[in-house]
Amino acid sequence: MPRPNTREKAVGLPISYEPGAPTPDGFVPLCVPEIRGNAWVYVKECLDTNWVSSVGPFVDRFERELAAYTGAQHAVAAVNGTAALHIALLATGVQPDDEVLVSTLTFIAPVNAIRYCGAWPVFIDAEPHYWQMDAHKAADFLQHGCVWSNGELRNRRSGRRVRAILPVHILGHPVDIDPILELARAYDLPVIEDATEALGSCYKDRRVGNLGDIACFSFNGNKIITTGGGGMIVTNREAWAQKAKYLTTQAKDDALEYIHHEIGYNYRLTNIQAALGCAQMEQLDEYIAIKRRIARTYQEAFADVPGITPMPEAPWATSIFWMYTVLVDEAEYGMGSRALRRRLEDAGIQSRPLWQPIHLSPAHAGHAYVCPLAEDLYRRALSLPCSVGLTEAQQAKVIEQVKARG
Ligand SMILES: *Cc1c(COP(=O)(O)O)cnc(C)c1O
Repeated sequence: MPRPNTREKAVGLPISYEPGAPTPDGFVPLCVPEIRGNAWVYVKECLDTNWVSSVGPFVDRFERELAAYTGAQHAVAAVNGTAALHIALLATGVQPDDEVLVSTLTFIAPVNAIRYCGAWPVFIDAEPHYWQMDAHKAADFLQHGCVWSNGELRNRRSGRRVRAILPVHILGHPVDIDPILELARAYDLPVIEDATEALGSCYKDRRVGNLGDIACFSFNGNKIITTGGGGMIVTNREAWAQKAKYLTTQAKDDALEYIHHEIGYNYRLTNIQAALGCAQMEQLDEYIAIKRRIARTYQEAFADVPGITPMPEAPWATSIFWMYTVLVDEAEYGMGSRALRRRLEDAGIQSRPLWQPIHLSPAHAGHAYVCPLAEDLYRRALSLPCSVGLTEAQQAKVIEQVKARG
């Protein structure tokens, strides 16, 4: 019997195609994990030694290695990046009914984490050059939208206390953080970096995750390195690291008698996941080099395609190009980002628009925020296949389809 034509089946694959699922012949997925090196050895070690659960030598080692890599003093493992953000917010002292400045152009996780604390997001627009949180707009909100009263910074409109800034380094490129750190100092606000998409990227020779007061990473399947699912909190403040460890481990005050003074969470990473993480850490620098090479090939190919803006990199940044994304100008290119996405799908290539800016999200509606740049980027952006395992032939196929235009 002839083999079924899997190439034909790949055509029209749904956008929900999950990272890590088997790839049908010829189909080019957006961004899938790359498992290499010591992964099998380290995971087998967990199974052989019975260290399979939420403590173990690989958890300690993964924490140490991530701290060393980012240059931060402390790292605390967590079950995923969203949980890490929840805990980081709590560790900095964010309380119910506080407000937190957060990028509107982001995956939804940090905004959900703010709501888990009972706090509220204040959405800050993206800047047009690198698509990251706009420090000028954050400054404008703090200057004109807030007022000091009894030593507390309050939102003039809501009356609520403004308590932290949460910039998200989106798509692997760092936020222009110095102006934000300056604001944070002036207004006495901690900076919580969402570095989940940017492990290894640099801002003026400093690694993300060690720019603000506390930071979070994710090791979900689509990130630069993966533990299946996982997260990490890093900080230079010992007290916050201790608080984070305490809260992720059910806030246990007496290990023998099970005494608890606070509501804790079961947010621990397992030793098996951490084993995978340690193996992936050994690959990280090479993965970044590959991501940058993929980006360079796209940049050169798209440089002269009318209506396609290649993904930017600031002169002060070293991006890991985690999710290679272009802007599509409908008038100039001949079709918009959504039409291009459908055409790529017909050719067996997965691509994806950016996230709906969260100020527009029905889940977080209720505030009349205006973030025009994020909305414009959302309309125009399309992320293209950029897995570490992307072959030259696959990338050539993507380039050919994009260059074919309308
Ligand atoms: C991936 C991601 C997270 C965390 O995701 P988890 O799946 O919970 O690990 C948080 N913020 C952003 C911006 C992300 O892309």
